[in-house]
Amino acid sequence: MSGRLSVVGLGPGEAAVRTPQAEAALAAATDLVGYGPYLARVAAAPAQARHPSDNREEVARACHALGLAADGRHVAVVSSGDAGVFGMASAVFEAIEAGPPAWRRLEVEVVPGISAMFAAAARIGAPLGHDFCAISLSDNLKPWEVVAQRLRAAAGAGFVVALYNPLSRARPWQLGAAFDLLRPILPGATPVVFATAVTRPEERIDVTTLADADQARADMRTLVLVGTKATRRVERPSAPPWLYAPRRGCA
Ligand code: SAH
Repeated sequence: MSGRLSVVGLGPGEAAVRTPQAEAALAAATDLVGYGPYLARVAAAPAQARHPSDNREEVARACHALGLAADGRHVAVVSSGDAGVFGMASAVFEAIEAGPPAWRRLEVEVVPGISAMFAAAARIGAPLGHDFCAISLSDNLKPWEVVAQRLRAAAGAGFVVALYNPLSRARPWQLGAAFDLLRPILPGATPVVFATAVTRPEERIDVTTLADADQARADMRTLVLVGTKATRRVERPSAPPWLYAPRRGCA
């Protein structure tokens, strides 16, 4: 058997938002590799080996998966959302680039998934309908000054910003610092959405403004969307407002 590696985006949570292509790649695998809680979202299949890991050391996990594939296994490496958005796909290619030449001959496929920003946006209307960008607030792998510079540039240029990894126990202050540096750039009325655990049973969507945005509403399962001065807010009588980006694309 010649080895194969699929890097599979599981989507943001519930099975209905996982693609049939992802389900097929998972079902065809002899081995599943990934962060333990993500593997737990994949239905057990008899005769399939599972290799759960903690959420650090992504490149070591990728090397493990590539080693299994080089031994002839059919390996699926899983990520939440889309594997190419702050997920395992980059770690796999980093490992291939630095690894033995044989890894470049493996059959590798990346199976796309629905990223948290798309699931969150869909809940609230169409806030990403025009130009937008995604920024991870984690400064584990890049200095905070780089994060801060990108935030200022994105907000100054009129991009809606999707903030991933807004905070964690080890990084408790980043989201508050991000709001503080956006406040002089954007109007206080700019819509901000806290979308937590989207498509999971504990889902919560809060809509507020930049003036009132409080980082205490977020945890590591939250995707934060920061609008622009062009973002439209459509009030509804007994439901949260809809937000959308007008197609003309500027205020
Ligand atoms: N590859 C993933 C992102 C992984 S980074 C994707 O494409 O979605 C982890 C961050 O993703 C979390 O800190 C959170 O900001 C976001 N996230 C993942 N799943 C989420 C969900 N169901 N609801 C809201 N945010 C989510």
